[in-house]
Amino acid sequence: MALINENFLKLQNNYLFADIAKRVKAFKATHPEAEVISLGIGDVTQPLCPAAIEAMHKATDEMAVSSSFRGYGPEQGYDFLREAIRDNDFHPYGIRIEADEIFINDGAKSDTGNIQELLSTDDVVALTDPVYPVYLDSNVMAGRTGVFQQGRWSDVVYIPCTAENGFVPQIPEGREMDVIYLCYPNNPTGTVLCREELQKWVDYALANDALIFYDAAYQAYITDLNIPRSIYEIPGAQKCAVEFRSYSKTAGFTGIRCGYTVIPKDLTMASRDGARVSLHSLWNRRQCTKFNGASYISQRAAEAIYSSAGKLQIQQMVSYYMRNAHKLLATFKELGFEVYGGENAPYVWMKTPDSLTSWQFFEQMLYGAHVVCTPGVGFGPSGEGYVRFTAFGSHEQTDEALRRIEKWINRN
Ligand code: PLP
Repeated sequence: MALINENFLKLQNNYLFADIAKRVKAFKATHPEAEVISLGIGDVTQPLCPAAIEAMHKATDEMAVSSSFRGYGPEQGYDFLREAIRDNDFHPYGIRIEADEIFINDGAKSDTGNIQELLSTDDVVALTDPVYPVYLDSNVMAGRTGVFQQGRWSDVVYIPCTAENGFVPQIPEGREMDVIYLCYPNNPTGTVLCREELQKWVDYALANDALIFYDAAYQAYITDLNIPRSIYEIPGAQKCAVEFRSYSKTAGFTGIRCGYTVIPKDLTMASRDGARVSLHSLWNRRQCTKFNGASYISQRAAEAIYSSAGKLQIQQMVSYYMRNAHKLLATFKELGFEVYGGENAPYVWMKTPDSLTSWQFFEQMLYGAHVVCTPGVGFGPSGEGYVRFTAFGSHEQTDEALRRIEKWINRN
């Protein structure tokens, strides 16, 4: 008899966005005339930049003739892209990451979900709360989280990030942490961590032989010079941190699929017999077994964003979305809401007024303004009482959503 992995049965609820879709569908059934604007899901809306399009056309043409056709590529990614990443994302910032420490993937979701396979199920996982749900759910599937009681997993260390602590995660006292997930700029709060604060986490990891998984999927949105774009800007991080990056939000690749994971060769972890094991070697072995590489065409598109034209074009794309973020932030402030993020990140995090729960505010705004946001509680218990707005809509949609919200608020 084949038995299932029972850990999957422990997963809570549906996937957050499926839940939102269900409620929007119910609203539309009773309000068929209403046009709903979504500032909810974090997907991009603007077309790919010309440099990426041109590179993909060229790569497709190469695939059309036998002399330049390519089948399986290297599991770790093509050298042309790994070298472009090294030469553009790391070396100019004084970070000694080499091309063979970079693993190309089909987007950060796969690797941020899969990386925990390298760890013992006994490792204690710590998460900033609220946070991108993939880190938690992938550890639930692996059986690392204990039992779910009163909205929390017994074996997970939650590190609250709320208005009360300025969204700066504090190292919890008296709790062991083996693996720490950090995501900056943060999804969902849109807040960032300065060098000094990030240094505390690196120091903790080095002192306690812990591992940091650092998700920098939104680093392209950082403009403030005191905010690190990479954890490897922090001394010591190459010995304790893995970094994930993605072209999804940097270059609009959510439908193209390409990203990368950096695992420095200096990063080792203990095995039960006390020997030090290279995480890079383990991941390489894992990828060679389970992954056949990101598509050649996607990798050529990613390479193209490092050309001088590509760099300019993706900068324009980031600025396009950040104009929305700034507008959301300014309008919400004018309307008297308490809002955070949105300055070095494409998300604005709002405290719900009048002590409404996240879902209550979500429903009220859906029915009152026909605008969808994301309930903060879907990202963790400390997200209760907040909602998230994304800056990834078009200018027209964002402006219209804000007009409707303003009208709705003034009516009440
Ligand atoms: N990491 C964070 C924090 C995200 O918000 C997302 C997507 O929304 C991802 C990773 C996954 O991105 P992708 O798989 O498209 O690269």
